[in-house]
Amino acid sequence: RIAYVNGAFVPLEEASISILDRGFLFADGIYEVSAVLDGKLVDNEAHLARLQRSVGEIALELPETLARIEEIQKELVARNRLASGMVYMQVTRGAADRDFAFPRGVKPTLVMFTQEKDIVNAPAAKTGIAVKTVPDIRWARRDIKSVALLAQVLAKQAAAEAGCQEAWMIEDGVVTEGGSSSAFILTAGDVLVTRPNSNAILPGCTRKAVMALAEERQIRVEERTFSIDEALAAKEAFITSASSFVQPVVTIDGRPVADGRPGPVATRLREIYIDFARATGR
Ligand code: PLP
Repeated sequence: RIAYVNGAFVPLEEASISILDRGFLFADGIYEVSAVLDGKLVDNEAHLARLQRSVGEIALELPETLARIEEIQKELVARNRLASGMVYMQVTRGAADRDFAFPRGVKPTLVMFTQEKDIVNAPAAKTGIAVKTVPDIRWARRDIKSVALLAQVLAKQAAAEAGCQEAWMIEDGVVTEGGSSSAFILTAGDVLVTRPNSNAILPGCTRKAVMALAEERQIRVEERTFSIDEALAAKEAFITSASSFVQPVVTIDGRPVADGRPGPVATRLREIYIDFARATGR
C-alpha cells in the first residue's frame, strides 16, 4: 500500500512522521474520511468543506489548497488501485519542541492513506447492527473533526465487548450521536428524526445527504433530540457515516427496535444513498 506524507507518495511501511508531531503529542489536528466507490470519491466536496471549517476552528492553515488535496486523494486511490473503501487524511500543526501554545513557522503535517472496505456489501446492512449506549464524555466542541478520539475509542471498545457494532452516546437523557456515525430514528408517525447540528455533534456529511434525499422523496425530516425510550418505541433506527453509508439498528442495549429486524425505510434510504454515491462520485 502507498501512503502520502508531506508531499511524497511512499510505501506505507516507510511512511513516518516525527515523535514531536503535535498530532501525536497533543491530538492537535483534524482528520477526514471520504468513501471510495467504483474507484471514485463519494460526496468529497462536503468532506473538503468540513475539513476547511474544522481547521479554521482551530486556527490551523492547510498546507495545500482544497483542489490540490483532492488531486492527492485521487492519486492515492489510483496508486492503490482502490475500488471500494476509504481515504483517510489527517492534518496536524506539525512537529516542534513540546509546548502547548502554537509553534511559529512550523509547516503543518499532511498524511493520507487508503483502506479497503466493501461498504456496499457489508453484512451489517442486511442483518442490522446492535448498539450499546454509553455516557457521552467528550469535550464541548464535537463539531470539530479533531483527532482527539479517546472517548470514542473507549465507547466503541465497550460496545465491542458487549457484542455491539456501534455505541450511541447519551447526554442529558438524549442521544448525541454514534461513536463514529450520526443517529436517526423513524417515528410511529413516519417522521425521520435526527439531532440538529450544534457543538454537541459532528455535522455528518452522510447525515446531510440522507436528509436531503429523504425530503426529495417526501419523507418528513425533523431535527430534534430523541431519547433511548423513544428509539425503542420507534418503527426504525439507523446510523449514517462515510464508511458505512446507512446501516439499520436492530437492537439497543439488547432490546429490539420494533420487531428487531432492519426496517424498510432504512433499507430503502441505504439503496438511495448508494445510487447517490455512484452518481456523484468523482
Ligand atoms: N459523528 C461522529 C462522531 C463521527 O466520527 C462520524 C464519522 O466518522 C460521523 C458522525 C459521521 O460523519 P460522516 O457522515 O461525515 O462520515
